[in-house]
Formats: sequence, structure tokens, C-alpha cells
Amino acid sequence: MKLTDTSLLKQQCYINGEWTDADTGQTFAVENPATGEVLAHVPSAGADETRRAIDAARLAQPAWRARTAGERAKILRRWHELLLANQEDLAQLMTAEQGKPLVESRGEIAYAASFIEWFAEEGKRIYGDIIPPHHADKRVLVTKEPIGVCVAITPWNFPSAMITRKAGPALAAGCAMVLKPAEATPLSALALAELAERAGVPKGIFSVVTGDARAIGGEMCANPTVRKLTFTGSTEVGRILMQQCAPTIKKLSLELGGNAPFIVFDDANLDIAVQGAMASKYRNAGQTCVCANRLLIQDGIYDAFVEKLAAAVSALQVGNGADDGVTQGPLIDDAAIAKVEELVDDAREKGARVVCGGKRHALGRTYYQPTILSNVTPAMRLAREEVFGPVAPVFRFKTEAEAVAMANDTEFGLASYFYTENLARTMRVSSALEYGIIGVNTGLISTEVAPFGGMKSSGLGREGSKYGIEDYLEIKHVCIGGI
Ligand code: ADP
Repeated sequence: MKLTDTSLLKQQCYINGEWTDADTGQTFAVENPATGEVLAHVPSAGADETRRAIDAARLAQPAWRARTAGERAKILRRWHELLLANQEDLAQLMTAEQGKPLVESRGEIAYAASFIEWFAEEGKRIYGDIIPPHHADKRVLVTKEPIGVCVAITPWNFPSAMITRKAGPALAAGCAMVLKPAEATPLSALALAELAERAGVPKGIFSVVTGDARAIGGEMCANPTVRKLTFTGSTEVGRILMQQCAPTIKKLSLELGGNAPFIVFDDANLDIAVQGAMASKYRNAGQTCVCANRLLIQDGIYDAFVEKLAAAVSALQVGNGADDGVTQGPLIDDAAIAKVEELVDDAREKGARVVCGGKRHALGRTYYQPTILSNVTPAMRLAREEVFGPVAPVFRFKTEAEAVAMANDTEFGLASYFYTENLARTMRVSSALEYGIIGVNTGLISTEVAPFGGMKSSGLGREGSKYGIEDYLEIKHVCIGGI
């Protein structure tokens, strides 16, 4: 790991503006998934440290809220600029702890920074309403106010962007936030805290607690001071957190699992579809919640599509993400590769054909070959479960109605994609798909300017865009009488 500014590598929690160890003094190791090298040790903090961070947030928030949105925006803009000024170091840290190719890490830092900039501006536009009253002697005012102390639990697949798209709107709105980053990728989170401090974010407004997920998460959910929990991760853990938040009725934002269909109709431009499938499926080695999980291809172009996709996949370079030219890094850990193997084996046993890949990569560790499976059917586990790896299962369909039914036949509803050159079909299918995000003739749908979030078991709430800040606000009605 080559850092120009070594003070970005932090090995302590950041609580109430102080760099601190766990009360027990215990730590855990952060490893590079590409090499197994131990990069750092960070504190194994638990409930007590979390409670202190929440208390500090409670004490700091009123003064932060009392500033004007413009004053908060100035600080957030500095944070944004510091992310960009340190883009290379932050990307090096990210690739080292997460494994994605450097070019993707650099892209994620720019994407992460974009949320801070966007919400710094959006915070200035938290408008209320004056509603025509129900009595002549009354006035009805509606204001939107920061919800208060927020907590965030984030995943390892986007170690920076999943944090900034929560912290950006929270801080812009006048809230304080305590964050628990994923165990695999705490270094990116701690570097963000260091830059927040340099930008002038006041102490207590943004704290980062690393350590035991259950202990930290348990305190975050149970603590009555916390008014909101925002989480990105698995549906399974989302359910647990929702239950744990029920006694204190916290507001929730949940970005959970997906099972994205990627539909290509006979009337699509095949080259554009293959390009989109590559971007959507193999980015981050298939480890994103919006990755195409099921490729649904219409009968007439099925063979041609598979052939073109195989040609594109053969150009992928597997290796250590820090090396030049690498386009696919390792999977995050042993459990991740074991799951990919299980799902591919299940499909193979039930009659899927391995077009390319289909096994671990010769590089060993958690490297998996970029894989395409054809003749995949709804009876296979891949139809229902998120593979979270570089495996493209290709299903066949005959009619538009069949494609829509297959696409919606899942408990999830995050991202979906379809390719067609027919305008009427574009309108019909985008209205029929039960998904929060739909990419039409594109495989890349994430941007700070648009709402990101899912339906059904994929979650609650939206992140990014003008809608994303609403999740951090309460609506207050002030009824003035006797006028
Ligand atoms: P993934 O499959 O992406 O690892 P998880 O839902 O397991 O998804 O993890 C996402 C985040 O949730 C991580 O920060 C992880 O530490 C945290 N997490 C996992 N289990 C719990 C739990 N019981 N309570 C609180 N946080 C948890």
C-alpha cells in the first residue's frame, strides 16, 4: 500500500473528536484479500464505546443544528474537496482492504465525494409549506427539521460511498451520526473521519466505532437517544435490525439485497446490451447489490448474445487489484467464494452448461474465474439467491409477458435492467417491473442525482437525490390560532 499521506491510515476509533482504543485494549486485524497481508489492527469496541459516541452526538447536535445550512455546507464542501485531494491515497487504502481494482477504487472515491457535495447543496433547500388554513383565524405552517442522532451500519463492498451517502444528507440536514463500518473495511471509514476532522466537522457530529457488529449494532438499536438507523447490507441482517429498533420506534432506511434481472429483448442492440451486462455483472467482481443476478435473454438472440458475452468476458484480467491492467480482483473472503461455488455446482448438477469459467482461479485464495452459465432455469438456486460473485447465469424466455413474470418472481425489488429499441415496450416493461431502479439500455444506474433504493424485501427509503435528504428529516405542523 503506497500512501503519500500516511496519517490517513488510522488504527483507532474516532469518538467525540478523539482517536481512541477499545476499553478492553483489544483489536482485530484488517487483511488484504488479494494477498492475506495484515494491513492494520483496529479496536474491537463494543456497546460502551458506542454509548459514549451516541452521548457525544446528543450533546453536539443542537449546536450543529443551530447553524445555518450554508454554514454546514461550507464545512461539507471542504470535506468533499479533501476526499478529492486525497483520492489516490483513499483508493490505495480501499483496494488494499477490499480488493477491487484501483481504477474502480478511484471511481468510488469520486462517487463518494459527490454525495457530500450534492447534499451540502441540498441542505440549503429543505423547504417547508404554508398551507391554506381550515379556519379563518388560523395559520398552518409545515417545517422540516433534522431528526436528531442517527446511526449507520455499512457494508464492505463500497467502503466509502455507502458511508458518504448516509453521512452527507445526515450532516447537511443538521443531524449527528455514529457509524459502524464493516469489519473487513474499517480503514476507508476511519480515513473519512480523519478528513471530516480536517474539514472542520465539529467533535461528536461524526463518530466511527469499529468492532463487534452485534454489540455495537445492539446498542445502536436499543439506545433511545438514537432517532434513526440507516443500514446497507443483507436482508437477513436488515430484518434483525428492524426488530431490534421496534421497541424504540426508530425511523429506518434499509438498503438490502437484490436479485437484479437483466432482460435483453430480440429488438435490442446486442453490442450495447453486452457492454451493459459486462458493467453491471463483473464490476467489483460481481459484489454489488445492483449487479445483474439473472440474465434473461429472448429466444431469437440467445445464442448470439451468449457468444458475444463470452468474447467480452475472455478479456477480463483477474489479479491483485493494485496491479496495472487488472479488471477483476479477489472475492472478499472464504465464505463469499464458498457461496459462489455452491450456487454454480447446484446449477451444473441441475443441467446448466458452463460456457466459461465455472471454478476457482489458478491464482488461489478467493479468486474466482469470470463465469457464464447457459441453460439456467428457475429450478436452480441462482434464480432466487444473490450470487455476489463474477457469475452470469443466462436464462431463456419467449414472450415479453414471460420475461416480466420471471423478472418479478422474487422477493427482491432493487435494480433491474432491460434492453429494447422499441419505445412502446420501454414504457410497458418499465411500468410492469416491481423494482425501485430500472436501467433501460444501460447497465450503470448509480448517481448522486437520482434516488437509489428498493421495493419489497430490498428495503425502505431512498438514498441520493432530493429524496435522500427526506430520510433524515421530521415533518412538523405548527398550527397558529387566534389571528
Ligand atoms: P454482507 O453480506 O454485505 O456482509 P451483512 O448484512 O452481513 O452483509 O453486513 C453488513 C453490515 O452489517 C456490516 O457492517 C456488518 O458488520 C453488520 N452486521 C452484521 N450482523 C449484524 C448484527 N447482528 N447487528 C448489527 N450489525 C450487523
